[in-house]
Amino acid sequence: MLFGRNRKNPIAIADKKVANWTYATCGYCSTGCAIEVGKNSEGQVVASRGVASADVNRGKLCLKGMYEHELFDAAGRGEFPLIRSQIGQPFERTDWDTALDHMASEVNRIQQAYGRDAFAVVSTGQILTEEFYTLGKLTRGLLGTNNYDGNTTLCMASAVSGYKRSFGSDGPPGCYEDFEHTDCLIAWGSNLPEQHPIIYWRLKEAMEKRKFPLIVVDPRVTMLAQFADIHLPIRPGTDLVLQNALMHVIFDEGLEDADYIAANTTGIDELREEVAKWDPVTAYKVCGIDEDTIRNVARLYAQAPAAMHIWTMGINQSTHGSDGVVGLNSLSLITGNMGRPGATSLSITGQCNAMGTREWSSCSGLPGYRQLENPEHREEIARFWNVDPEFFPKKRGLAQTDIFPAIETGQIKGLWLVATNPLTSMANTPRIRKTLEKLEFLVVQDAYADMESNQYAHLYLPATVWAEREGTFTNTERRVNIVRQVVPPKAESKADLKIFNELAKRFDPEGKVHFPEQSADVFKEMGELSKGRLLDISGMDHDLIEQSRGIQWPYSAEQRDHGEAPRPGGVRLYTEQQTFCHPGGRAKLIPLPFVDNNERPDEQYPFWLNSGRLVEHFHTRTRTGKVGNNNKFSPIPFMEINPDAAAELGIKHQEYVRCVSKRGDAVVMAMTTQRVPRDMVFIPFHFYDCVNRLTLGLLDPHSRQPAFKQSSVRIETMADQIEAARINRDMRAY
Ligand code: SF4
Repeated sequence: MLFGRNRKNPIAIADKKVANWTYATCGYCSTGCAIEVGKNSEGQVVASRGVASADVNRGKLCLKGMYEHELFDAAGRGEFPLIRSQIGQPFERTDWDTALDHMASEVNRIQQAYGRDAFAVVSTGQILTEEFYTLGKLTRGLLGTNNYDGNTTLCMASAVSGYKRSFGSDGPPGCYEDFEHTDCLIAWGSNLPEQHPIIYWRLKEAMEKRKFPLIVVDPRVTMLAQFADIHLPIRPGTDLVLQNALMHVIFDEGLEDADYIAANTTGIDELREEVAKWDPVTAYKVCGIDEDTIRNVARLYAQAPAAMHIWTMGINQSTHGSDGVVGLNSLSLITGNMGRPGATSLSITGQCNAMGTREWSSCSGLPGYRQLENPEHREEIARFWNVDPEFFPKKRGLAQTDIFPAIETGQIKGLWLVATNPLTSMANTPRIRKTLEKLEFLVVQDAYADMESNQYAHLYLPATVWAEREGTFTNTERRVNIVRQVVPPKAESKADLKIFNELAKRFDPEGKVHFPEQSADVFKEMGELSKGRLLDISGMDHDLIEQSRGIQWPYSAEQRDHGEAPRPGGVRLYTEQQTFCHPGGRAKLIPLPFVDNNERPDEQYPFWLNSGRLVEHFHTRTRTGKVGNNNKFSPIPFMEINPDAAAELGIKHQEYVRCVSKRGDAVVMAMTTQRVPRDMVFIPFHFYDCVNRLTLGLLDPHSRQPAFKQSSVRIETMADQIEAARINRDMRAY
């Protein structure tokens, strides 16, 4: 029986009349939620729902996942290959054979005229792992360019670099189940509720069941900071100082785990010497966190039976990003917080398959975490692929952030962009625009013909989106999960795997190198190459992955053959003593001197500029900008500004203002909020021609990742608010 208001206004959930559901994995963030996509009896896609039996999300989805089925018919999809001889001319429709023949001939022309490395490839964290592996085989094995990277350099390169430096290999050692065991969690520059809502839900649920302190380090009062027991509003770019000070207190008060350090690490003396310089009083003057709080947090962390860190872009997108990751790893190592339930150092990855590219794309090396610098690895892969080992370069080429300057200087003449949109995502986009203009040949391969970088393409190849094809993603906790095909490719678009395979035929007409046609066969090949390695996936296949709702690596053929079923969760790395990947099995403790090299606010540009993600949108909005239920919550570029700073400048809430840096300007709506301190503004990074017109993007020396979050700007009022609104509107789409 219904009473009161419910009787008058019963909530009715529309029956979508789903006839069948297909299993997939969400194609947005790296949480890796399992999704089912529903079709009605006419075969129309009508709904998405979370998979209750999947350990990652346990039936939940965030706003993006809930409407992911609307992507198939969203506006702006590319339907046919497009070609033009000159930028500025209209594209003409062409057929696939002409398009791919033209691409092969342009690549050959550029490589013959200027050398193999004059043609560069920049891919993504969005395509399927089997596609990454195939692109790597094509690029390393047939094209032979060493200037090959992914846009993951903008988000995860520092985590990769930091893991390699500390542990000898990439690979996040922890898992989501660690939330259920930890006694203290420090989140560094990670706003989980907006960036990874379902990981946040897992964390919140764990905290509700078993209270443990949540400490958030972030210059903004983010949503996660609002839920924290302790919020450390650190000065931008000074995480390293806080980490050194925490280690200083831990050593000073004898809180370290001496047995673990002695058994599992090298470099303790050098580390002690460096952190000795960073007593909490000295650190306070640089990082802005007072000495008592530093001591309190150090004790809470070091005395907890199991403690963990998580982090995202607040650490990675910095000139000290790689060092920041090494610092967190060192904090874990000196307190013995590694490889045990609730004790880990877990980077929360960004894109749905950033892990897949790290593992299998060969961007920074060779597949399966192999290195170009290692002659045995070169030999092994050359034999497996049937190519000459001498064809491989002996060290890694340029990272994405170095490829663009190399175009500027004329070293690179041709570029292939695969599912990435640098005209919106790179720092200092006015410079990127000029750079793209210089290319002799730009090919854009993307599901969306209206993505901004396509303005500079000579050739456009329409790819499929998400579940228009089949294959796997790896999520933040090393879980391999599958996307089954829900619908056929739209119009004449093709799966990236098919595009790579057809291109391979043009560079290897005799078929010397084998390129399997089916995604499941590519996965088998990867399984062979993974045997005995840290990321062993040889016990998995597509069907088992779906049945298990995703499997964390390692899961080897031996485990499978001995009857060991994949575990639902809770698989960790470095659980045994001396199993790190450096020679001798020990992790490295690395001293980290602090170098203050960021652009800082001054009299002319008095505000820090910070940027980040919104829950409704993903990356450059090529997808979420077209899904009504995502876009309506954040349709326009805006800027958070502290109410006191706004009052001082005469700016009212929701007025348009001009934000100016040494690189350029952007017109944004001012939203007054106490989330940002008086000397900082925050602009979401999703919008075209907006925050990245302002950012400087100095590079981390180890990872080459840009410091998106540390630039300086000034704010100007705009008398003509109608004109300002027009400029602001134009920033949403070109
Ligand atoms: Fe998709 Fe990430 Fe949302 Fe899960 S949390 S539904 S993976 S966007």
